[in-house]
Amino acid sequence: MAMIKVIAERCKSCKYCVKYCPKGVLAVGRNVNSKGYEYVEPVNQEACIACCMCARICPDGAIEVYK
Ligand code: SF4
Ligand code: SF4
Repeated sequence: MAMIKVIAERCKSCKYCVKYCPKGVLAVGRNVNSKGYEYVEPVNQEACIACCMCARICPDGAIEVYK
């Protein structure tokens, strides 16, 4: 089973990961981190195929992928 973890404090809400995830796993949530960014959260975790695209594309290293 694949699982991702978003490190909320690192996210700057650029949405690259949301755009490039092939499975629609990620979305910007309503919660705000200490820097004022609405961070990304998994909304469809079950669909994740652990392709690591999100982790590779994130400029801030805010996503970790586990298999
Ligand atoms: S590992 Fe792939 S499928 Fe899973 S959330 Fe990241 S981009 Fe989407
Ligand atoms: S790519 Fe990284 S910084 Fe950008 S929205 Fe996704 S988790 Fe946040």
